[in-house]
This record gives sequence, structure tokens and C-alpha cells, in this order.
Amino acid sequence: MTVNADTHDAGANTWRSLPAAQQPEYPDAEALRDVIADLESYPPLVFAGECDQLRDRLGAVARGEAFLLQGGDCAEAFDQVSADQIRNKLKTLLQMGAVLTYAAAVPVVKVGRIAGQYSKPRSKSTETRNGVTLPTYRGDSVNGFEFTEAARIPDPERLKQMYHASSSTLNLVRAFTTGGYADLRQVHAWNQDFVKSSPSGQRYEALAREIDNALNFMKACGADPAEFRTVEFFASHEALLLDYESALTRTDSRTGKLYDVSGHMVWIGERTRQLDGAHVEFASRISNPVGVKLGPTTKPEDALALIERLDPERTPGRLTFVARFGAGKVRDLLPELVEKVTASGARVAWVCDPMHGNTFEAASGHKTRRFDDVLDEVKGFFEVHKALGTHPGGIHVELTGDDVTECVGGGDEIFVDDLHQRYETACDPRLNRSQSLDLAFLVAEMYRG
Ligand code: PEP
Ligand code: MN
Repeated sequence: MTVNADTHDAGANTWRSLPAAQQPEYPDAEALRDVIADLESYPPLVFAGECDQLRDRLGAVARGEAFLLQGGDCAEAFDQVSADQIRNKLKTLLQMGAVLTYAAAVPVVKVGRIAGQYSKPRSKSTETRNGVTLPTYRGDSVNGFEFTEAARIPDPERLKQMYHASSSTLNLVRAFTTGGYADLRQVHAWNQDFVKSSPSGQRYEALAREIDNALNFMKACGADPAEFRTVEFFASHEALLLDYESALTRTDSRTGKLYDVSGHMVWIGERTRQLDGAHVEFASRISNPVGVKLGPTTKPEDALALIERLDPERTPGRLTFVARFGAGKVRDLLPELVEKVTASGARVAWVCDPMHGNTFEAASGHKTRRFDDVLDEVKGFFEVHKALGTHPGGIHVELTGDDVTECVGGGDEIFVDDLHQRYETACDPRLNRSQSLDLAFLVAEMYRG
């Protein structure tokens, strides 16, 4: 992989002639140009070969041989790039991965919404509080969360901060996943600080004991495979800010192809998946595995056209459709999409995002989700695939490793009146550690069932 600026290819910038939704309006175009030039000189955050490896893993998901676990914050925040927070998130994903692998007996592809998930598309461009109207918060990569006029002005310097925050996050993630912490023999240690009294914590303890027994048995037989010592973990985020993504797009010296080296996998959101728009054009030029969120307005023709644009060679693992219909709609609307896509011969991976179609505002004003709705959407997703004989390929969830109170319900129940206690998200409500583990157990049952 070469990293010089001269490896930039015009192909990374073809999106510039098309309408690009959800881009910040920077007050100073020259400042933006300087930032882009700096970003273009920065080293890649990931290697093209790693992106190919993830594409192969997702190919197994598309073929029905593996399950994708994709999760992390709705929006990462610069002031949350700390060892504790990163470790807690990772630990939660590793625990969920262990539950799914063991209880559903399926290889689990682990992908974080991490190390780059700093940019948010918004339905409304302004926000009003106590009679004051200001531009909406669009993620730490764009403007400040603080409700002041100054904080809400988009600042291109934040794109560089996003690069550095992503870089230090990824560095720690790589250390954790390859430096011994993710060793399967640590399966108990990941649970140590967890409320042992919580039902999901106890259930996990029991499963960890079984895994331990299995490992001891294998060791006694003389098998101690290296695969248990590290974990394959990938980073993903929404490719929203195209100035940033294209500045980090480089030609791979091995293949001559373009890769967005800001993360292993990127996805296009529900609000930016216009077929003739800039985001689809950009994604069509890169060779990373790409996801597209599909909401309830998606027509089968849209899905087929997206396949044509994004996966013309029909490479399993290149394209993942992330369905986010809502618990009340998934059973009605998903079947036709899956059916027509399958009939077209395309091998996409189908993944369920049970979060974004199930958000509502509680009386307290908190944006929240019910655990039961989340679960019900996943159930509906599994039912649809079962009926069609297709593969329910994975889940895409918003979660954190901290004991926040942002979604209601779960085995260690959070009530609407608890929401204010630890409501810390910068954007959408996340499952806490206990709710995430509950979900993993229930999904494993559905997968097996
Ligand atoms: C998100 O994943 O945080 C998001 C905004 O999702 P969607 O594009 O599906 O609304
Ligand atoms: Mn979100």
C-alpha cells in the first residue's frame, strides 16, 4: 500500500459533480481546502488487504456460513476517546460475540461502529430550545454538541480531529484484540466487573464456564489453536462527510484499486442513498465492503438499482443491506425486497438494524427505544428469512459498554422514569451492556431455532 499524495485518483472525487445530501456548509472554503490537503497527506488508518479480508468474511455471511455482529455508538464523541470507554465497548462486543458463536454455533464476524463514527445525518437542520433556534448538531466531526451559536458553526478543523480520534481509538482496539486481552481464555475476565447479580451477567457466567470446559478439554487433547489468542475485529462507520472520505481514499499498490482507508467497512445511511446522489457515486468507486441502510420507503427497484451501482460484479461480501424498517413494518415490507433481490441472482448479506425504525420520544423528552421493539424487529427479520429460505445474516445495533439508561426494558429493566439517570448519548439511545448481552442470548436462540 502506498501512501503518497500522488496515489490519489480522480475517481475518489467524481462525487463532487453530484448533489451531496447532509454535507456541512462551511463558512470558509479555503480553510476546508487546507484541511483536505492535510488529510490527503496523512497515513491510512486501515490497509486495503484488511478490507479485502472483511469482504471475504462478509462473503461467508452472504452465503449463509457466518453471522455479522456490527455495533457501537450512534455517534462517537471526541471527549469519549478514553481507554475505559473503548475497552468497555469492545468487551461488550466480545461477550456478545462469544455468546453468539457458542450458543448459535456459527462463526461471528465482529465489526465495530467505531474509530470513525463521528458524523450524523439529521432529519431537521435546526433545533429550538426555549425559543432559541440554532443549527442542529451533526456530530463532533462537524460542529459542537453545546447549544451555543459558536459551537454549532461547522469547523473543517474537526475533520482532522476526527482522523486523530479514529487513529488513537483504532490503535487501542488493535492492541486489545491482538495483545492478549481478547484471548478466549479471558472469557471470564470480560465479565468480572459486571454486575454479577444481573440476570444477563449470570447467564453469561454460565456460558463462559462451558466455554472454559471446552477449552480445557481441547488443551488436554493437545490442541491449543492460535485462533483463540486473538480476535479478528474490524472498524466501520457511516461514510457521510465526503470531503473526509475522499481525502482518505487511496490507490492500493497491489491491485490499483481505490480503497477508503478511513475504516474497513463504510455504509451509506437511509438519508443519503439516492441513486443519482454523491454518496452512491463515491461508494461505487471504492473497493471496501459497503453497507446501505434500507428503510420502509425502499422499493424493490431501488434495491436492485443499488446492487447494479454498487455490486455490478456480484461479489459476495461487497454489499450488505441493512434493513431498518421498525418492528411494526418489517414483516410486511421486507419479504418483497428479499424475494426480488434473491431472484435477481445477487448475493448480498442481509442484516437487521432493529434500532432506527423504533425510536420514540418519552414524555420526559428523551429520545428512546423499547428493548421489546428492538427484539421484535429482529424476530420479524428472522421470520421473513425463514419463510423465504434466505439467510438472516446479522444484526447492526447501537450499544455502549457503560451502564447507561437510554433504552427502556431489558432483563435488568430500565423504566421510562429511569432515563434521566445516565442518559449520555450524543445522538440516538444505545443499549447498555446488560441489554446488549440479553439481545445476544435471544438472537442466538432465534438463530438456532
Ligand atoms: C445511524 O446508523 O445512526 C443512522 C442515522 O441510521 P439511518 O441512516 O438508518 O437512519
Ligand atoms: Mn443512530
